[in-house]
Amino acid sequence: MDSCLFCRIANHEVPSDILYEDDSIVAFRDISPQAPVHFLVIPKKHINNIMEIEESDKELLGNILFNAQKIAKTEGCEEKGARFVLNCKTDGGQTVGHLHLHVLGKRMLYWPPG
Ligand code: 5GP
Ligand code: ZN
Repeated sequence: MDSCLFCRIANHEVPSDILYEDDSIVAFRDISPQAPVHFLVIPKKHINNIMEIEESDKELLGNILFNAQKIAKTEGCEEKGARFVLNCKTDGGQTVGHLHLHVLGKRMLYWPPG
């Protein structure tokens, strides 16, 4: 999708602080970090949100999760952990309509969210 911000980040048309990239995913730091560590992991292909994944996306989703935890460890979150979040649509608080996994770490987070 030409107009999608995260597609444009995945295509390197919009600059971002990229932490990891392979054929199917990109991880980059959030522009407005809510914790000392806050990065996003996205599929390169456009998927609106988690409600729209298909059976053929299972490997892609596994790749997102696998690399999210690898980067979280590299960022120093292994010992104390981190928050892994998928916001979805209006009730989930999603503001960018391209599937993205948030990873937040290096600060104590509470539950439930507000
Ligand atoms: P959502 O609210 O959709 O779950 O999260 C979208 C996230 O994308 C927000 O945390 C926001 O700070 C981040 N974001 C929005 N625009 C940009 C951008 O241009 N670059 C980067 N790196 N992050 C962005
Ligand atoms: Zn997109």
